[in-house]
Order: sequence, then structure tokens, then C-alpha cells
Amino acid sequence: MAVSVGIDLGTTFSAVAYIDPQTKMPKIIPNSEGKQITPSIIQFIDGKPIFGSEAESAFNAGESGCAATFKRSMGRQEVYCTIDNVSYTAEDLSALLLRHLKEDAEAELGDSIQDAVITVPAYFYSPEREATLRAATAAGLKVKKIIDEPNAAAMAYGLNNWRENANILVFDLGGGTFDVTLVRMGHDGNLTTITTRGDHYLGGRDWDDRLENMLIDKFAAETGVDTNGDPAIKSMLRGMTEGVKKKLSSMDNAKVSATIPGFGSASVTVTRQDFEENSADLMDRTGSLCQAVLDEAGLTKGDVTDILLVGGSTRMPQVSEYIQNQFGKKPIAHVNPDEAVALGAAIQTTKENEQYAKLSMQVMPDGKKVTNRKESGLANRAVVQPSKKLAGIGMLSLRETTAHAMGMIAMSTDRTRYINDIIIPANHPRPVRVAKAFSFYTSARNPNDMEIYVLQGDKEAPLDCLIPYKYVVSGIRHIREQKGQTTIKVQYSYDNNGIIHVEARQENERKNLSIRTEPVPEDMSQYGIPIDPELFKAQPEPLNVVMAVDVSGSMSGDPLADAQRAMCNFVQAMDFSYTKVGIVAVSDSSEIVCELTDNESACIWAIQSITCGQTGYGNSAHPFDTIKQMLLREDGRLFALVLADGVWDDQSLAVSAAKDCNAVNIETAAIGFGGADEAFLRDISSNDANAMLVAQSELSSAFGTIAQSLGGGGSARSGADGTVTDVDTWEE
Ligand code: ADP
Ligand code: MG
Repeated sequence: MAVSVGIDLGTTFSAVAYIDPQTKMPKIIPNSEGKQITPSIIQFIDGKPIFGSEAESAFNAGESGCAATFKRSMGRQEVYCTIDNVSYTAEDLSALLLRHLKEDAEAELGDSIQDAVITVPAYFYSPEREATLRAATAAGLKVKKIIDEPNAAAMAYGLNNWRENANILVFDLGGGTFDVTLVRMGHDGNLTTITTRGDHYLGGRDWDDRLENMLIDKFAAETGVDTNGDPAIKSMLRGMTEGVKKKLSSMDNAKVSATIPGFGSASVTVTRQDFEENSADLMDRTGSLCQAVLDEAGLTKGDVTDILLVGGSTRMPQVSEYIQNQFGKKPIAHVNPDEAVALGAAIQTTKENEQYAKLSMQVMPDGKKVTNRKESGLANRAVVQPSKKLAGIGMLSLRETTAHAMGMIAMSTDRTRYINDIIIPANHPRPVRVAKAFSFYTSARNPNDMEIYVLQGDKEAPLDCLIPYKYVVSGIRHIREQKGQTTIKVQYSYDNNGIIHVEARQENERKNLSIRTEPVPEDMSQYGIPIDPELFKAQPEPLNVVMAVDVSGSMSGDPLADAQRAMCNFVQAMDFSYTKVGIVAVSDSSEIVCELTDNESACIWAIQSITCGQTGYGNSAHPFDTIKQMLLREDGRLFALVLADGVWDDQSLAVSAAKDCNAVNIETAAIGFGGADEAFLRDISSNDANAMLVAQSELSSAFGTIAQSLGGGGSARSGADGTVTDVDTWEE
């Protein structure tokens, strides 16, 4: 039967563990060299990857073809290194390492491995987690879950040392990173992350740097050679540093011998005390981050029940001493810092995935929204129970939280700048979903897309956060009956693995809109500067007017001339920066004299060119079908103005055609004079105020009234109008 494993994919070392079928307890699977941990280093020889101590020695000796610390570049698509003309991303290298770890463990167990739980630093962003997932899949592993390293360590520790109501501070100082996490041991093996913070650029390597500088100085003083100016000497000393550092973890001083070109063999002594003084500021940086985590949780140092040390660098005695000084208590030492993470991951292989939780927001009296997470204040008041051993791994359950807030780029309410509009706060239990509704204005002609930039981090300025994804929602339907006004619901989630997902739906639809990710543009600087107020000056809604004029025989002479004058006045009263006007002649047929245009003189010219009887001398036609066909191609407000004298032959047909126009949001107005029928004018108008029976001499003023009513119209319009509200989430 295939085995499930937990894998600690470390920056410097990796480890694999499983649940021993005999003892039902987590256990490290030694690698093919019999070691508990495997260096996260690959050497390529003739294109073939080599692992283990061989690769490690090659790397330390500065041989070519080696790749190390690639975990730091996870999630970046760029090439991490090129060896023998083959380019590798961090993800490619991780896949190779994972495959090696898998094969080594399979050989050791004599069984195949399928499922894996893989650990990542708590502060890993969504793209880094995704890259880890893909690397594992490429390595032939089925990932059951990705869990956070500190949580895994706390699980392994909690199994044998469960203390109800205890607040455990997990202090993880690895090779290149530092992570501090506060977890709470609740009832019955319920482990919950309260807060977590990390520093991507603080780890054993920084201590190595300090020691390297010390060695360079000491050898310079000893030999008089400019060791600092000689790259070859520096690289030789660098190669020795880590060994010296480890020696200083168990001894008070270390003698270091080296052959210095231009001098010969020389030796210097480094004391632990010197080393500690030289790296005290690094320790202080860990202290500040611990304080930040406690502050965020609303706890004091005194509320911390235990401090759990994880990561190889916590073997340095200065770490325990520092913690003892800061917290007034000894950190826990009886967990193997190299193995704890993999052991915890192994425990998690027996667990089922959790379902999405709903983010419940509470509104405080001051109108501020708070999430339901801050139970932390209670933590210190509960009495910590004595340590006990849990009955077994089945007792343990883990509730992980979001290390980073998730937000989106949005406009500030005063529309002066872009902000990070936080959707899911940091330190909220995951998986979690939140949906928002956006009011959105669509166009009838162009494809309707909506862009969403997702952010990770809680800084207010978008550019101070990570911008992991750009999403483009497409296929948004233009709803003519609503003048293109629609609502788009967007659902944001953090899944079980801390990976972000975004889905979108249009109002009243049960199907998701299609959504794709696009590379985040390199230049995002526009989101860091004040918004140009011109951009958001309320733009009037586009206005489209079709005027239809009766050209039957009864119009001949003065009536038509007066009508033409009134129509020209109307056109001149319009603002063509947002208006288009079209002209139709109607009598025995209806004909477009002028297509909708924003060219004022073209309209005037077209009106003046109209002749009596140009579409016949009778009144057997109506203009509404032509009007509808012209206006339906346009966005914005659609308006038809019909001028009639006398009575049309088929009034009921005209009325029903006018109603058809109204049904598709075309407003209709009718001006009549001479023998026109007032009831008919009302019937073809979308409201009674739009129907006017006037004397021929009043034509111009009637057109003027309509022009005025249209000039006042027009509402603000811009892509999404910025209204965002919370709405219910939905299942996939
Ligand atoms: P990661 O999780 O980043 O892979 P690890 O937790 O394996 O890292 O820790 C590796 C770091 O621990 C390296 O910087 C290494 O030098 C340091 N380290 C390991 N053992 C010791 C020791 N005995 N004394 C001091 N540092 C050590
Ligand atoms: Mg580690």
C-alpha cells in the first residue's frame, strides 16, 4: 500500500517523515546515506542531478554546476540558474529535489509514496505556495495539503506535550529566514494559529556573514595580508565559516587555520563571546518581530506559556540565552529543531481537508468592522493545564490562519488616490471566502471586461504590498433594459493551502464568468500617485436622439420650413460632446436622412436637405422600426422625437411599434400640429409629458422644451462606479 509522507522542503535542509504503522507515531525516514536530513542542494554533472552530501561538499568547495537556496526564489517565473545551457527556475529545482526525496524515502521504506503534506514558511505568499504545489506535482507527488512550518513544528511538539490553554511561541530561525508564530493549544488537541510574522532576509546566513568578516579581519591582523581585497581568500574563508559557526555552538572558542597566499599557513582564534557581540543586533531583530507578534495578538511576554525553538540556527547558544533574557523562561529544547517540521507534516497526512469558513464580520458601535478572530485576549486568562501526552495523532487538529491580508486595488472614497482595500484580514482562520458586489457599467458595443488587482499585505498603499495577481473577468453581459448598469459579484478566497482564488458572477446568474490571470504589468507606478481629478469629473451619459419628421403632402410649404427651423434650433441647443443626432423622414415609407452623428453641421445640412414627399405624399408608414434599428447600436440614453401633422393611416401599428421601442429603453416623444390626433401622440410617447399638440407657430418652442429636458439629463458614468458592498458567497 502506498505511503503518505510529510516533507519539510527547507531552504538549506529538507526532511521526510511518515507515520510509523507499528507505533502510530511520526518518524523521520532517513535518506539513502542514513541521514535524517538532506541538504537542499543540487549539483548537475553532465546535466544529471546529484544530491546529498556529495552535492553539499561540491557546493561548499565552490565547484561549478551547483544550485542552492533556491527556495528563496519560489514563485518567481524567472530563471534561477543556467547550468550546461539548461535553465532552471526555483520551481524546477524544487521539483528535482522533491523527486529525489521521494525516491530516497521509497527505497528506504520499500514502498511507493503517493500523497504528501508539504511545509512552507508561514509568510509564503500565494504564488510561492502555488509554485510549491506545482513542483510537488511535477515530482510525482499528490499534495494532500500545504501547511505552515511553525504549525507543523507545534503539532509535533503538541503530541507529547499538550497543555490546554497554552500559548506557544514558535521561534523558527533557519538558514535564510526567520519566522515567529503564536499558536494556541485549545481543548482536545485543537491547535490554532493566532498570529504569525516573518522576515525573508534574516537567517543563519546573516550570522555566517558576520563570522566571515570577523575571520577576514583576524587573518588580516595576523598576516598583514589584505584579505578583504582578495576575492580568492574571501571565498576560501567563506567556505570555512559555517563549520566554525557550528563549532562555536558547542565550544567557547574555535581555532581556525588557513593557508593565506603571500603569507603561508596561519591560524586565528574566534571566541563565542566575540561572535555573539558581533551578531547581537541580529538577535535584536528577532526580538522585535516576537514583540510585534505579541502586540498583534494582544498578549504580553508573560502570557507566553512556552517558546518552541525550530530551525538549525536555534542551535546557537545565543538564541536560548536571548530568549531566556527576554521572556524570563527557558525555551523548550527537547524537540529536534531539524526534524520537528517534517514530523508535524507527517501527522497532518492523516487529516481530512477542511471546508471553507465564512468570514463573519461584526460591526462595532463606532461603525468599524472587526472580524471574529480576536479571542486571543481570553487566552491569557484561562488557566494553563499541566502538560500531558495526547492519546494519539488522531487527537490533533490544526486550524491555520492567513499570514497576509488579502486586498484589492481600489479608489479611496474621496477618489484622490488608490488604496489597498482589505477583503480578508491577516491572521484570519483559513480556508475562508468573501464576496463583494461591484456596480458596473457596460457598453453595448465593446467587450465588457473587468480588471482586478489582488494584493497581499496590510499596508494602505498598494505599492507597499505584494501584487501577486491581475485577474481579468470577461464576458460580462450588457443588459440593455438596465441601460448597461449591472452588478458583478466577486468572490475572493484563501484555500486550505493559503492559495488565493478569485471567481466572479454577474447578478442573477448561477454560472461563473470566465476569468483569467494576466502578468502584473511591470510598471504599476500609476497606483502610487494621486489620481488626476479630471479623470473622474462626472462625464454625462451619452445621449442619442433620432428625430423623425413627417414629409407627407400636408407638410408642403410653410409647415415643413417651420419644422426644419425648429429642428435646426433643437440641434444647435444640443451639446455634441456627448450627443449624437440622427434624422429620419417618414410618409409612405421611412428613410434615414442622416445616420446618428456627433457632427452638428452634418445634421443641420441633412435637415435642410429634407423635401416634401421625398418618401411619398401619403401617411401609410411609421418611423419606429427605423428608429429602433438606429438607436439599438448605441450606448447611453436613447431618445426618439417624432413630428407629425395630420393622422397616420395605421395608428395602432405605429403605437405598438412605439411600445416596442419603449420596451428596449428608447424613450419616445411626439410633437403634433395641424390635424394631429392628441390621443395618438400620447400613445406613441413614453410618457404624457412627452406628447405635445401645438400650433405651427409654437413648433420651435416645443422642440426647445424637449431640448431643455434632454440637456438636463445624463448621469455620471465610469467603468465601475466604485460602489462595493458585501454579499453572500457561493460554492464552486
Ligand atoms: P532551513 O529551514 O532554512 O532549510 P534549517 O532549519 O535547516 O534551515 O537551518 C539551517 C541553518 O542552521 C544553517 O544556516 C546552518 O548553518 C544552521 N545550523 C545548523 N546547525 C547549526 C549549529 N550547530 N550551530 C549553528 N548553526 C547551525
Ligand atoms: Mg526550516
